[in-house]
Amino acid sequence: MKTTKLLIPTQKEVPNDAKIISHQLMIRAGLISKLALGLYSYLPIGIRVLQKVENIIRQEMNKSGAQEVLMPIVQPAELWKESGRWDKYGAELLRFTDRHQREFCLGPTHEEVITHLAMQYLRSYKQLPMNFYQIQTKFRDEIRPRFGVIRMREFIMKDAYSFHLDDASLQETYEVMYKTYCDIFNRLGLDYRIVLADSGSIGGDASHEFHVLADSGEDTICFSDESDYAANIEKVTFSKQEKTCQSTTVESKVLTKEKTSIEDVSKFLNVKEVNCVKILIIKTKDGFKALALRGDHELNEIKIHNLFGDFEFSTNNEIKNLGLKKGFIGIKNLDIDLIVDYSASVLCDFVCGANEYNYHLIGVNWKGIKFINADLRNAVDGDYSPDGKGKLMIKRGIEVGHIFQLGTKYSSVMKANVIGESGKAVTITMGCYGIGVTRIIAAFIEQNHDDKGIIFSQAIAPFQIVIVPINYNKSTRVKALADKLYQQFIKASIDVLLDDRKEHVGIMFADSELLGIPHRMVISDTHADNGNVEYKARNKTNKIEIKFDDALSFIQSKMI
Ligand code: ATP
Ligand code: MG
Repeated sequence: MKTTKLLIPTQKEVPNDAKIISHQLMIRAGLISKLALGLYSYLPIGIRVLQKVENIIRQEMNKSGAQEVLMPIVQPAELWKESGRWDKYGAELLRFTDRHQREFCLGPTHEEVITHLAMQYLRSYKQLPMNFYQIQTKFRDEIRPRFGVIRMREFIMKDAYSFHLDDASLQETYEVMYKTYCDIFNRLGLDYRIVLADSGSIGGDASHEFHVLADSGEDTICFSDESDYAANIEKVTFSKQEKTCQSTTVESKVLTKEKTSIEDVSKFLNVKEVNCVKILIIKTKDGFKALALRGDHELNEIKIHNLFGDFEFSTNNEIKNLGLKKGFIGIKNLDIDLIVDYSASVLCDFVCGANEYNYHLIGVNWKGIKFINADLRNAVDGDYSPDGKGKLMIKRGIEVGHIFQLGTKYSSVMKANVIGESGKAVTITMGCYGIGVTRIIAAFIEQNHDDKGIIFSQAIAPFQIVIVPINYNKSTRVKALADKLYQQFIKASIDVLLDDRKEHVGIMFADSELLGIPHRMVISDTHADNGNVEYKARNKTNKIEIKFDDALSFIQSKMI
């Protein structure tokens, strides 16, 4: 390709809403263009990168034995009603009616459609296992689309769904997909971690997430500093702890005035947050519950959901009607169930609300208090690893892939059966496997950039090499050499860009660096006098001169 024939709208300005570096660079390098909130067009450079990412995914999925299909993005409501998700999925599911008043949605995922497809064509156990995948557009009406292609409303996902006679077969394919994902992310050159995950609204039994480590990541992931243990913060579980401390003080009531937050109370009383207990009131289908946590801990809503099902935080009015004083709720005289987190229940001589406006209690102990002990909280840095080995470190991650063992969650409600070996109907067992194709590009850039721009790997760079001729439009010798080199690269199937613009060389260098093209060759009259070209790798600072006649073999040797 020649630069003059290509739309490469590089820019210096950073749009206001581009808060993270990958978003800024994707706009500045002209990969994407914003249409509306969470909706982006891919420009020619962006498409080149996207297609390379897709091809790596496609090749590895094919290698794993999965079969490519393509399902519609528009999905009939009936299927979602059958699975029970039409009502459950929430506002992310964009629903609409057609001209005949039939209900539809834009697919945020394809479990229903693929299960329906499987029911039509998978009849006998002899056909199993099978794994189908597609690379296709998804729509999720995200509450907070942000970070460019990281959290979009319309995005491209590779989703795969496998069908099995039993759990053993599912486990086998799950392991194949686990390995395939590692191969894909390795080929893409991402620094990633695999963590135990919660299976969220898609549901199911076992699941792992693949996270690209980046400070801008929206997910929090926890690792042991001594073992392989790694889990999404939502999934780190704690067990009951032994109480080691002994009470040494007598309980008393202190005036704390308008101090209602743990932070203010702990500062005011000069007590660490660790030694305070906070109470949250929730409304469940079985009534109100009080949840007690250590002051420095955060509630894990998924754990609460697993314990009580759907719940809401109580409103100020509800709290008042329960006779409680918001900001001063304590563990005593509660008329509702009290559920205490394991780590709060081993505290001694702690601080909590006095159930009286403007007062807290100090030197409080659990003796005589009736409560249920449970795991309610998120992990924090320095927690003991749940596998008993080492302590937890916490890092930020961008989720780029997610694999689930769905079991019979969809097949049983949608009645997807095959005839088993004994002639009886058997409910199909399923797995599902997603990759955020568009998100991968941003995640890669988060990990591979410098102050000049993106640093693409050869695998996904829009071009593998750029030729920058100095005075291409003035020096016939430079033009002839640049064109010759360009033709050699094309013949050798190397993705080459020839910068044939009448631009200042500084601009041509800056653009190729912003675009992150891995290799650059400069041709000038001075170099030509010596029969040379100048070479520089995007990820190195030094430049070297090589013989013009060796240029092709030199680049080819870098591509192995
Ligand atoms: P997240 O927790 O980030 O919302 P998810 O758990 O909802 O993701 P999955 O349903 O597992 O996502 O979808 C598979 C993959 O699709 C994710 O691992 C992620 O890489 C990608 N993905 C999900 N939502 C978006 C989005 N709004 N924009 C871009 N990519 C997305
Ligand atoms: Mg997920």
